[in-house]
Amino acid sequence: MKYYDPAYYSEFHCIAAACPDSCCQGWDVVIDSETEDFYSSVQGEFGKKLREAIYTDPDGDRVFRLAEEKKCPFWGADYLCDIFRELGEEHLCDTCAQFPRITMDYTTFTEHTLALACPEAARLILSTDNAYADFAAIDCENCEEYNADAMRFLLRLRNRAASILTASKPLAERFDLLRILAAEAQKELTGDVFECNPLSPDIFEKLEYIDEHNREKIIQAAREKADLSQHEAELTRLALYWLYRYLLGVIATYDLIAPLRFIIGSVVTVANLAQKSGDIITAAQIYSKEIEQSYENMEELGVRSEWWTPSTPDSYS
Ligand code: SF4
Repeated sequence: MKYYDPAYYSEFHCIAAACPDSCCQGWDVVIDSETEDFYSSVQGEFGKKLREAIYTDPDGDRVFRLAEEKKCPFWGADYLCDIFRELGEEHLCDTCAQFPRITMDYTTFTEHTLALACPEAARLILSTDNAYADFAAIDCENCEEYNADAMRFLLRLRNRAASILTASKPLAERFDLLRILAAEAQKELTGDVFECNPLSPDIFEKLEYIDEHNREKIIQAAREKADLSQHEAELTRLALYWLYRYLLGVIATYDLIAPLRFIIGSVVTVANLAQKSGDIITAAQIYSKEIEQSYENMEELGVRSEWWTPSTPDSYS
């Protein structure tokens, strides 16, 4: 098994109390069973507080009941974690211990990345050039879980898409070339003839949001005419980030159009958000927190962010 990390991965350190939008607010924290077993053995007032805070949500997950303003009940007044303080880092649940680190296990190789929804990760992702240099040489050995030829096709396609995204042309032109590439590659992969049309702004109305204020801003930004004239370097890094985050997930769906449409539509929406605020990093981070961190939203957008159930189209059987 070979492991590949983007250049920013090892640079990440949680900025904790200095974080402008902590992961300790707004999200359900799913507690793994091993950690819950340990929490059930913790004595005293703190153990009681731990047990009382955990409940089963409508999806069947064991989660912490959020306190006022959707804050984690263990988020201290000093913006530090009470579980970390009382029990030690080793007793954080897997969700908290790993965030924002993401592992994408493709069986014969593994890629890591960071979640853009974390403000410090967003800063690194949008400020690091040449972050995926090592990824160009990734190859795929035969494996039982998916068709290795199809995965090699996707790896080559990803390299071609990355070359387009880093070419010396205006970003709007690069996106036009990417749309053409997506349609051609889809035909080659499955024989289907589809255009990579823009993401419909209407879809943003159907998504779920943590914050209603962000909902309005994102829907409005998605409806505005694309203006990619500012922040081109950051927007390019953003497109590359999503390319490396999602393209190989196509091995589950054989639908290339959905992730490439998502990438282009999301970059345009973030660009429009940043036009108003002037802050491209926060625009990308908030967009990711609202849209990308929701499994249901990504399902609605047709983009796989989790492990897959592989299938093989005729052209790759
Ligand atoms: S969002 Fe990122 S930087 Fe902020 S508290 Fe969480 S892990 Fe740390």
